[in-house]
Amino acid sequence: MNRIYLDNNATTPVLPEVLEGWLPYYQGKIGNPSSVHWAGREVANAVEEARDKVAKLINCSPAEVVFISCGSEGDNMAIKGTADALKEKGNHIITTAVEHPAVLEVCQYLQKNGYDVTYLPVDKDGQLDLADLEKAITPQTILISVMWANNETGNIFPIAEIGKIAKKNKIRFHSDAVQSVGKIPVDVQEANVDLLVISGHKIGAPKGVGAIYIRRGTRMTPLLQGGHQERNRRAGTHNVAGIVGLGKACEIAAAEQKEYYRRVRSLRDKLEDGIISQVPEIKLNGTPDRDQRLPNSLNLSFAYIEGESLLLNLDMFGIAASSGSACTSGSLEPSHVMGAMCVEVTLAHSSTRFSLGRETTEEDIDKVLEVLPATVQRLREMSPLYNCGRTAEGCQTCETIRRI
Ligand SMILES: *Cc1c(COP(=O)(O)O)cnc(C)c1O
Repeated sequence: MNRIYLDNNATTPVLPEVLEGWLPYYQGKIGNPSSVHWAGREVANAVEEARDKVAKLINCSPAEVVFISCGSEGDNMAIKGTADALKEKGNHIITTAVEHPAVLEVCQYLQKNGYDVTYLPVDKDGQLDLADLEKAITPQTILISVMWANNETGNIFPIAEIGKIAKKNKIRFHSDAVQSVGKIPVDVQEANVDLLVISGHKIGAPKGVGAIYIRRGTRMTPLLQGGHQERNRRAGTHNVAGIVGLGKACEIAAAEQKEYYRRVRSLRDKLEDGIISQVPEIKLNGTPDRDQRLPNSLNLSFAYIEGESLLLNLDMFGIAASSGSACTSGSLEPSHVMGAMCVEVTLAHSSTRFSLGRETTEEDIDKVLEVLPATVQRLREMSPLYNCGRTAEGCQTCETIRRI
């Protein structure tokens, strides 16, 4: 069976060029980059080359890039590291209600430890109102943390405008850009960001590596202590192979971002138009303005059916998509992002995310458009919610209910 992978916001396949460049670091170049001998030096050079490539992608100086283990670590580091380093200055943090759990749960943890957190609301399309941000700022505010783009809806937030507000008020600004790098331009200077987090496995590098940009002069308490690596910002022996892979993926992302956008967006638009024209009673979760959404993301609710059952039925055709975010699927709670958008509960439960990638082909999209409408219809016909009150005459469920 042909396998169609439309869950690239959960993770991406490793790029062939990344894998190629990666193997030598398990097969000979085995040194510890902190060692002074030849074995250390050759890998230390490779780590520095990777640092240059990450820096180029986001337009910062290599000395401002710190290698970490994943996006979640970066978000923890940015927020906890700031909260601790600036605790004399204030105890208030502003974030949004739709952040990744690696931001939200860190903020909830800090609330238990004496910090105040404002969670900015979003409207029904998942968009922020910057007037809310301006109103939330107090003399105690030490950090604004807003993701560059949302992993569930694909909505892109007005990061440059938020950066201006942060700068005007002299407040540190962190952005989780895990979903944005490689898909849209991400420039830390233009956006006035002080802390920015990226993750390898969302951009074609291996799992278990990431980077955080820390603007020069930004005081932070390290999350990991115990070694002098990364200019004392992050202890622990470098994941050399992962770092080299991340560097390569960033180099490719920088070179191909425009082409990626054009190609993936046209496939996503085809999928979106195709589903909307063929399937009635659906709801788009996210902004209808496609320019304000990541080019690869589409999130839809299909009335009357459960997202999970749609996923399992698509899976039978080899199609991988996602309901809610991968981290929350398996729980019965509808996603916090749908909740923040006030999506009605049954629609929130049917929310389904399609996230395209570099490998997605026109044939993949044709296949989904062939399979999905019939699958949705079949599931609806089995759904008590769909039948009751519509085909009450002769509807099995209605008959059963009447008998009871
Ligand atoms: C995936 C993701 C993360 C977490 O990154 P990991 O490397 O998997 O820890 C953080 N934020 C966003 C927006 C993500 O999509």
